Amino acid sequence: MADVLEALPVFGLLLALVLAVGLLLVRLWSAWLRRKRRPRNPVRGLNYLLNEDPGADPDADDVAAEVTHATLDGHLARATVLRRRGDIDRAVRLHQSLLARPALDSDARARVELELARDYLAAGLLNRAESLLAVLVRRDDPLRQAALEARLELHQRERDWTAAAATARELAASGAADIARTLAHYLCELAEEAWRDRDLRGARRQLTEALEQDPGCVRANLLRARLELEEGHYREASAACRQVPDQDPRFLPEALPMLVEAHHELGTDHDLLQFLEAVGAAHLHGARSDVSAGTYICDACGFCGPLLQWQCPACKTWGSIAPQVADPSD
Ligand SMILES: [Zn+2]
Repeated sequence: MADVLEALPVFGLLLALVLAVGLLLVRLWSAWLRRKRRPRNPVRGLNYLLNEDPGADPDADDVAAEVTHATLDGHLARATVLRRRGDIDRAVRLHQSLLARPALDSDARARVELELARDYLAAGLLNRAESLLAVLVRRDDPLRQAALEARLELHQRERDWTAAAATARELAASGAADIARTLAHYLCELAEEAWRDRDLRGARRQLTEALEQDPGCVRANLLRARLELEEGHYREASAACRQVPDQDPRFLPEALPMLVEAHHELGTDHDLLQFLEAVGAAHLHGARSDVSAGTYICDACGFCGPLLQWQCPACKTWGSIAPQVADPSD
């Protein structure tokens, strides 16, 4: 009996310990369940947000409790950082909360709407982005150009080249620099579509316009050469290829197989040899050895890959990738 009495405090201690561990486990389990229910995927999170009242979110209340002209820049900068690091749902929530503030005037509202459209673009919610941008591009102030640029990105994502070309023309008319090269590539995309639909007249018309927009558009001549070769128009194919070295000599190896085929079919190999001598055989050999190694480099960002792509997958610039040309002296 005495032993039992002596052991009682130990049992009590053990019981308390078991209860404490049990309580801790229950708390950890509840916290895990709460985290699991919270949407993590940005797009899933967005859908949740778009169907809920953003004002009911404590994050939104915290962000936009006080909005004045002085604080708006700070809020927009914070949302941009959120979007860039992939927290798109929080960026959207922030922008929606800003738009819910009655103190915002029309210009400030337009700035927030543009940022919200960029959030939607980043999340792949293209219809929502388009409905905001469709209104913003009708403005008559510097914001219009930014809205047109966002719309251009949207059309590219949709691969809607007709709309992209129309928006690029609007940008060119509003004085945007360096848009002609991009527009020429949209026209080349349209030419490829027309060619796939066997609309050869349409394809040729798009390529002619691409060269009018950007006389340095190598892609338009390479495409024209391929089309004419396939149609058996060897003189036209040769003429398109011969323009390539003047546009960018690095692309001559891309044109050369078509040039050889066209002159072979015409029986004018001698003319071809004369042409090659004129453009410089040494340069040609240097470039060929490198292209066969499969190296294409982006002039804008240095991206390097084994395929010729007309839009750089890294920096998204059009027409910036070219075959790497080795120094003939190497
Ligand atoms: Zn690049």
